[in-house]
Amino acid sequence: MNAEIIAVGSELLLGQIVNTNARFLSRQLAELGINVFYHSVVGDNPERLKSVIKIAEDRSDLIVFTGGLGPTKDDLTKETIARHLGKKLVMDEQALESIQMYFKRTNREMTENNKKQALVLEDAQVLPNEHGMAPGMISDNGGHVFMLLPGPPNEMEPMFLKHAFPALQSKLGTDDVIVSRVLHFFGIGEAMLETEIEDIIDAQSNPTIAPLASDGEVTLRLTAKHSQPNTAMMLMDETEAKILGRVGEFFYGYDDTSLMHELTKLIKENNMTISAAESLTGGMFQQEFTSIPGAGGLLKGGVVCYTNEVKAEVLKVRKETIDNYGVVSAQCAAELAENVASLTNSDIGISFTGVAGPDELEGNPVGTVYIGIWIKGKPVQTEKLNLGGTRAANRVRTVKYGCHFLIK
Ligand code: ATP
Ligand code: MG
Repeated sequence: MNAEIIAVGSELLLGQIVNTNARFLSRQLAELGINVFYHSVVGDNPERLKSVIKIAEDRSDLIVFTGGLGPTKDDLTKETIARHLGKKLVMDEQALESIQMYFKRTNREMTENNKKQALVLEDAQVLPNEHGMAPGMISDNGGHVFMLLPGPPNEMEPMFLKHAFPALQSKLGTDDVIVSRVLHFFGIGEAMLETEIEDIIDAQSNPTIAPLASDGEVTLRLTAKHSQPNTAMMLMDETEAKILGRVGEFFYGYDDTSLMHELTKLIKENNMTISAAESLTGGMFQQEFTSIPGAGGLLKGGVVCYTNEVKAEVLKVRKETIDNYGVVSAQCAAELAENVASLTNSDIGISFTGVAGPDELEGNPVGTVYIGIWIKGKPVQTEKLNLGGTRAANRVRTVKYGCHFLIK
């Protein structure tokens, strides 16, 4: 089965919103083993929508629409499809009831055009909307399956996962269990990682391996299918072991984790506390640290030491250090890390000093960063980075590298 995703909405064409629905649906359909060959975007215009539908019918078995199921005049997806297919729109009593309940619950007045949202294509399978009003639907039409989903991602995504996914699974006539797992890597680029495991990816069809890079990190999604859940898991374990045999040193966690999440877990497990001296990151490390639930009590505090004055006076970086090596130096990073730990009486001190950009500093190019790490009972360590990205990217990556070095 091959599929096409048609996102309806003029705001997409105007660049006001990003088509995240297509991304979500493509990933989900891939997990079902359905090939998505086309993404289309069309405005809220019946003529143009009709022409896109005609093109889709010539090339796709499954046509998934998102958007335009709401109550307003510009929401015309289902009306246009009904006219195109020569089908009637009929009132779905259950959907109507759930819309009435929705208004009761939110204490609002229901207007006549809200009723319109309960109209569905005759003979369609109705997909309940548990987070909004407009129901989705699946309609079979001589070899083509039309699936209509609402536009708002917070309605569309749960509807797809709970109702559309199993419906498609039964259409595909498979009772295979689909399991997936995400592996997170840091400190290796996407191209390098793919090169290292290219033969494994090429030889592999169950599980499939899908790489994805963002914000300096790489993830691999493994998706396995089998009628027996245990076997699907076993297939995945085998492939994971092969991958980690090659690039295991860069692996840091599974599924919904992050570097910061892993770091807070590790500090907690070791019953330790941490503090930070932040120059170019301006508090970002601590901001992210404290955003992790359960991080309470682990971070003692820290100092945003953006100026030389604060580095010298609050964090007691020696004058000779600043005079001889500058503040963008391993020596300065080392003193910052050690001194912030002693200032706050923490087991770990981490420091960030460097050049975020756009201008160079002390003759160091943009992206030169030193990270200092002091851990109680050990000699202080420093790491040098040559990032060379934009100011924003350099700051984000500096924080990630800080976590990475502490986890290692
Ligand atoms: P509503 O009942 O809210 O009107 P709808 O099904 O009619 O829902 P639209 O009116 O097309 O959907 O879009 C409503 C909102 O949903 C948009 O303003 C946008 O925020 C979001 N949205 C729509 N399409 C997409 C898309 N392809 N990707 C991401 N978000 C989208
Ligand atoms: Mg709408």
